[in-house]
Amino acid sequence: MNLKPFYAKGWIISKAWVISDPRILYRILRGAFRAVVLRKNTLRTIDILPTFDCQAKCKMCGVTKFKRRKENLLTLADYESIAEQAAKMGAVAATLLGGEPLLAKNIEDVIRIFKSRHFSVALVSNGIALTRDYARRLRSAGLDWIHFSLESLDEKFNDERRGFPGQSQKVMEAIRMSKDEGLPVGLCTLFVPGEMDRCVELIEYCEKNDLRASLPTIVAVGAAEDIVPASEEHYQQVLGLLKRYRHTAIDWAFSYFFRPRCPAGKEKLAITCYGDVLGCSLNHISFGNVKQEPLRKIWERAGRFSQFRKNTDRCIAAFDRYHIENYLSPIAHLDESPVYFKDHPNITVETEPALFSE
Ligand code: SF4
Repeated sequence: MNLKPFYAKGWIISKAWVISDPRILYRILRGAFRAVVLRKNTLRTIDILPTFDCQAKCKMCGVTKFKRRKENLLTLADYESIAEQAAKMGAVAATLLGGEPLLAKNIEDVIRIFKSRHFSVALVSNGIALTRDYARRLRSAGLDWIHFSLESLDEKFNDERRGFPGQSQKVMEAIRMSKDEGLPVGLCTLFVPGEMDRCVELIEYCEKNDLRASLPTIVAVGAAEDIVPASEEHYQQVLGLLKRYRHTAIDWAFSYFFRPRCPAGKEKLAITCYGDVLGCSLNHISFGNVKQEPLRKIWERAGRFSQFRKNTDRCIAAFDRYHIENYLSPIAHLDESPVYFKDHPNITVETEPALFSE
């Protein structure tokens, strides 16, 4: 595989930010050294899910079954601790997902906390709650990037899929307001098998309008639990788009190993607003809780999971049939996510002895 486009992509996205902060440069060089020379993983990025509240009802929402309680939410002190621990482990990026992160009342404080530990902070929003004043406050809190979820330039199609009349218009207004306030903007759209034209149209819109494009593939979890997983042909289509469009990216397209690699549980963790730690927000298996154990201990445990030890060059949740059939499907129809690894029907002392070895 020609890897050159992927190196370029990682560099294009991060160049200015890396150069501007020596501490980030040090963490990145350390991560690359550990990967290339020592063949070891280093935590690179964490996804924070600060709330599961949302105004929309997306037909493909990946977190629709996540527990929603009002108690035991992470406090700002918990976020301070997570940021501190993750920075010491080498992490350089934090992405705020949801739910809708703009509905989290403490979101500006959370941004400030990660920014003060020299993270690049991005946020993925449906755009509905954004106002000019809110965009200004996010920028002054230190937000580096804002991405808006949009599924189509066809308003009717988009709003139906996202389950919110007018969401398309809200995103267009949100793009304008964010740019006016100096926030770099991207669009996030799902790659759905059979919908190449829609993806290409959105990506080309991004190219023409100086927007970054993010293209995760739909996964059979949450509201999309019954979809047929993507095939090898679809994987090749995604690869083609990543190579063809310079500002289109996805998390598995680059790694500290200088090649495409699914980062789940190795270079990436996701942490819910209750403290549950997952390999990523689409792998609904929890490996511990940051309120009870150090982040490093949970990361090391996740790293022993057979599926995360694979060096897969693509999204395992979207394209790895073995992983989907044995680890995602058996829990996809349960009422509540995430499932603690010891409660997963296919994760036992016999099948995963390394996970139970503490
Ligand atoms: S499973 Fe997919 S979404 Fe999750 S980290 Fe890997 S590439 Fe990213």
